[in-house]
Amino acid sequence: MKIECIRTHHLRSELDEPFGFSQWYYSTRNTLWVEIIADDATTGWGECYGPAEVYEAAITAFYGPPLLGLDPLATDRLWHGMWRSSLDFARRGVMMGAMSGIDMALWDLKGKALGMSVSELMGGRYRESVPCYATGMYFKDMPEEALIGTLVAEALDYQEQGFAAMKIKVGKNPAFDVRLISAMRRALPATTLMADANHAYDLPEAVRIGRVLDEYDFAWFEEPLSPEYELQFRQLHEKLRVPLATGECEQTRYGFQRLLSPGGVQIAQPDLAYCGGISEAMKIRAVASSLGVNVIPHCWGTMLNLAAATHFLASGYLEPGRAEGAGAMLELDRTPSPLRDELFETSVTIEKATAHVPTAPGLGVVVDRSALQSFRVREKEIR
Ligand code: MG
Repeated sequence: MKIECIRTHHLRSELDEPFGFSQWYYSTRNTLWVEIIADDATTGWGECYGPAEVYEAAITAFYGPPLLGLDPLATDRLWHGMWRSSLDFARRGVMMGAMSGIDMALWDLKGKALGMSVSELMGGRYRESVPCYATGMYFKDMPEEALIGTLVAEALDYQEQGFAAMKIKVGKNPAFDVRLISAMRRALPATTLMADANHAYDLPEAVRIGRVLDEYDFAWFEEPLSPEYELQFRQLHEKLRVPLATGECEQTRYGFQRLLSPGGVQIAQPDLAYCGGISEAMKIRAVASSLGVNVIPHCWGTMLNLAAATHFLASGYLEPGRAEGAGAMLELDRTPSPLRDELFETSVTIEKATAHVPTAPGLGVVVDRSALQSFRVREKEIR
């Protein structure tokens, strides 16, 4: 089997209403998909999380051409070939994001070629369904008091839909954050709540907000600090009860080893469309396991990444593992995204806030090619 063609699809949708978090506002959603086609027409799809235009160039001009003619089933060998070809100038960042999309497409292709789902390729499923938590409650451009009311109403809507767990955004400003956290807990006394600051705080601010999260019994505090300050995570952890989660900006087993080793992080969150792909996520899970840390992927993209994360969670267990142990939850982004919801003939089935793990070969989701046209920015192909 040989790789015959690599195609990139830059897709975009304009949002009706911008939404924001602690760092910026989104007015469009973009994605870069990678399609890899073997000489027997077996096709795999992958996704890159980040700047689509840059990914397109990295794949079609740099990583893609040397892959043509190689065996697509040799996922680990191809990964290390790409790694060595850019190691001198791209140990992290968008080049690794580009490798992630290629690697995801290769796993999808391999599963289809072997007649196995990606979770079977990962070592087998511990479970056939994965409970989801809702990610939402993004900021909108409105007065803060009204915003809190809007966000609480959104959260109550998720509760109505059957979500027992959900994640809010914090990091707007500390005074607002404290009011939002208490309003959410008052409105949802029995819900599992998490808070995500997207690295908005310095250490004293993170201590202050973390103590409020302790008071209101939140389940984790996500990206309280910049990922550059792994020692500060340890300092923060020593002052709080709430578990600390981070890793969506981190990549590779080496990056996670550095981030997790000081012992301040309890939940590692690699994004399979950015961290180095499925191949590297498996190695990150091994590094995290060796440190007693659980891995719950960051998942904020299209149905390809959602399917990959579902397979990853189904094929893993919470450390240290026990007969009656619960599995980790899947992050289900609830912000508007036609790129997630409208481009697939077959999606991951989600009922009552639970994702059913696809059992079809590969990622188990089927792209609806006819739907791509209305979201297409550009398609590029090398062969
Ligand atoms: Mg996050």
